[in-house]
Amino acid sequence: MTHPAMRIALYGALFFVVTSATIFWTRFAGGLALVWVGSALAAALFLTLPRVHHLGAFAILMGLSTAATALFGFGPAWALPLAVANIFEGWFIAWLLVRLRPQRDFIESEGGVASLGFWAGFVGPLPSAIVGGLMAVQIVGGTWLFHAFSWWVGHGLGTLLVLPLALLLQSYRREDFANMRDRARVLAFAGVVSLTALVSGFAFHQSAMPLLFLPIVPLVFASFRFRRFGAAIAVLVISVAAAFSLGMGTGVFAELAMPLWQKALFLQFYLATLLLIAFPMAVIIQQRQRILDELGDREAMQRLIADHSDDALLHLDSSGTIRFASPASTRLSGRGSVEQLHLAAFFSEFDRKKVDRALDKASRHPGRTEILERSVGRGGKTRWLEAKLRAVETSGRKVCGFVVTIRDITARKLEELEMTREARTDTLTGLPNRRAFLDILDRRLDVADQEPFGLAFVDLDHFKQVNDTHGHAIGDKVLSEVGAIMNGMASDTFFFARLGGEEFAIIVKRPLAEAAADICERLRLAIAKHPMADSDGKAFTVTASLGFAMISESCSASMALQAADAPLYLAKASGRNRTCRAQGFGRLTRGGAPIEQARIAVAG
Ligand code: GH3
Ligand code: MG
Ligand code: MG
Repeated sequence: MTHPAMRIALYGALFFVVTSATIFWTRFAGGLALVWVGSALAAALFLTLPRVHHLGAFAILMGLSTAATALFGFGPAWALPLAVANIFEGWFIAWLLVRLRPQRDFIESEGGVASLGFWAGFVGPLPSAIVGGLMAVQIVGGTWLFHAFSWWVGHGLGTLLVLPLALLLQSYRREDFANMRDRARVLAFAGVVSLTALVSGFAFHQSAMPLLFLPIVPLVFASFRFRRFGAAIAVLVISVAAAFSLGMGTGVFAELAMPLWQKALFLQFYLATLLLIAFPMAVIIQQRQRILDELGDREAMQRLIADHSDDALLHLDSSGTIRFASPASTRLSGRGSVEQLHLAAFFSEFDRKKVDRALDKASRHPGRTEILERSVGRGGKTRWLEAKLRAVETSGRKVCGFVVTIRDITARKLEELEMTREARTDTLTGLPNRRAFLDILDRRLDVADQEPFGLAFVDLDHFKQVNDTHGHAIGDKVLSEVGAIMNGMASDTFFFARLGGEEFAIIVKRPLAEAAADICERLRLAIAKHPMADSDGKAFTVTASLGFAMISESCSASMALQAADAPLYLAKASGRNRTCRAQGFGRLTRGGAPIEQARIAVAG
């Protein structure tokens, strides 16, 4: 029933039948109808219609309302103005609801039900009651207050009783009826409806005691079991039983010492109260059920992930103790079980403080993910673990635990290390490059006051000629063989690097710093003795000049480099294939005194 015209036709027909019936049967005092469900139907129609159809629907409902009043009510004279007031009321209720509750959750949430009750049952009929009261005074006499009040109460209660049911049927959703499909469920529903009918029939038809509270029992039961649908149907069944008893003039109502119109009003109050108890309750139960269903779905998903993930998934309590650990935890922790242990159980014992700090940081910034990367020894091998931690808060914003994933990132870490190694290695010789050299130099300079060290530059002699005579490829080969000689000499105390071209550097650390001059000489001789071969296999040799300085004071890198560069310059100038040493560097460079003044010792 999606087409607007179809909807207007159906609601129109229903509207005409219902209003005719209420006008015919409930104008007890000859005045206004006391039960008015027409506005609920009109509002329900306006709520579903696109705005372009509102005017058409208004006109059609107004025509039908006029006809009903003319045929069964006050007659044709006042039929039109009364119809305008009635249909305006339905339209106004729909307008109020959409305006003030744009999310339209009138039968979905507690707030929605509350706003439906207030705007549709209480505020909506007020303007039309004021105008309707004036008209009633003109038609049947009496006081305006009386007519306006009975309009307001009758229309408000009628709307309150019928609008939720109309909206429920409109928003027909499978979930409301899905659980009706199996037979046991249908039988149970039939049972609850029959029980409600029986209990209310008994409560209304006997007059020995005021037992109007009795139908509440099956109503609550129906609401729990069948939720909104159960609540609406149960109230409907109670209404029919009560209306039947009222109409027959038997039972509880016969005993009440009041006019029929008052009894009808009382009955509406009673029924509206029942609905206001049962419907919100059913909505809340339905909401909770939906949340539980979603939770169940998520739990199943989580279990699937936890059971089959290569990462460990953990739940910790607020102290960091593991309360739940997924199967991958065994492999990643190297322990049989980590439950009841601290998160630190995954890491080396030296990392306990780091783990605590990460937990502390996570709990101070809930919603943020803390990442901890540590290396651990597992079965004689080094593995890298990455923990991602997040604090979990209670609804009161108190940290009640943590969720943690732990992943083996060894492959990634090795790749990273390999990449930094590559970035710091000279490809031709395999020696550390200029960048690596400058880092080491900086580190040495930081502690040079306490730990003097030797710094030397190595520059191959007449290398341009080597290239020119034997070709660039042989030149490269010479460089890589010189690199191999240095690699062979490198140790924890001797650090060799290729600075670029045919220039190299040496750093000699404690305890052999004083022996640095010897290292330079050993290197120089090793290079000079090393037989190189040209493209024809013919042997030749190359030589190198070395400049060397002892750095015994913290100074800038460029100053240290200058200190070794000057003796190198002198080694070249004084004939090459030799090592020159800058002496007394510390004294001479203080205050920026020129290095060239250094006395040079020439070896070789
Ligand atoms: P000196 O004794 O004064 O140091 O003479 P030199 O020819 O070695 O001096 P210079 O610094 O002018 O020349 C260095 C040459 O080294 C220039 C360049 O062609 C060569 N060279 C630099 N890098 C490479 C390299 O990676 N491979 C080869 N084959 N040659 C290089
Ligand atoms: Mg050079
Ligand atoms: Mg050179």
